[in-house]
Amino acid sequence: MVDTCLAIDIGGTSIKSGHVDASGSLVGEIRMTAVGDDPLGTVLGIAREARDTTRAIGVGSPGYLSADRTQVAYAVNLGWRDVDLVDRLQDATGRTVVLEGDANAAALAESRVGAGQGQSSVLVVTLGTGIGIGFTVQGQVFLGAQGFAGQAGHMPVHGESACCDCGRVGCWEISASTRGFERMLDGTPLEGHGAREALRRSALGDVDAQEAVQAWTASITAGLIPLICMLDPACIVIAGAVSESGSAFLPQLRERIAHASAGQVIGVYPARLGPAAGVIGAGLLAWDQVR
Ligand SMILES: [Zn+2]
Repeated sequence: MVDTCLAIDIGGTSIKSGHVDASGSLVGEIRMTAVGDDPLGTVLGIAREARDTTRAIGVGSPGYLSADRTQVAYAVNLGWRDVDLVDRLQDATGRTVVLEGDANAAALAESRVGAGQGQSSVLVVTLGTGIGIGFTVQGQVFLGAQGFAGQAGHMPVHGESACCDCGRVGCWEISASTRGFERMLDGTPLEGHGAREALRRSALGDVDAQEAVQAWTASITAGLIPLICMLDPACIVIAGAVSESGSAFLPQLRERIAHASAGQVIGVYPARLGPAAGVIGAGLLAWDQVR
């Protein structure tokens, strides 16, 4: 009996794939494949190659998915519109295929087998060039009526401030994303050095870096508080590359949240699975279909 599921995490420039066992552990290494000129052909190729060694296939995709999770409705980086990914993969492999958003797949992994393991509800916040959130209840991702839950990066929390790529003003991610953090470094000696370097220098006592971290954690908190009020999560997991530098900003973030959330006790933890979260989550979703 085959005892792993193939998991595919599609990114803008490369596709991660791996085999995941029923407990959510990776079996072997994660493989990286360039997206290339034909992303669909690349995904189908990875799946065909593994069809005899997989029970089912889980896929995490960027972009907007259809509410029934059979199609990628729109993924700008892949040039995809209304791609019947589930049908195409099932036809190519004869296996059960499950599709979910990449951020949701990663959130599921962190909540079941990562930093949120054992918690009843987990809010996973990914800080990158934008902000993505995934909210899980009893190990299941909350999707909303049409599958669009979690577009929290575009909550208007900053009043009439700068314009966002989405066309609105005041979006949370304008200043709370890592790109927002990097903008806070403009005009300081740290300009152009990137978020992780600024966090490193902040931990070493650099005053400019520390001031930027203060402003950044205030911005992150401004969006987390309404989410905490609405969702009352048992814990918050901070994901994204900056989570590896968590000691430089998480203590301050915890303090701000405790101060602003009036009595609620919420754990705030760095993500534990790193860049493997998307693959592991896609694998767990595949297992949910066949066990
Ligand atoms: Zn926006």
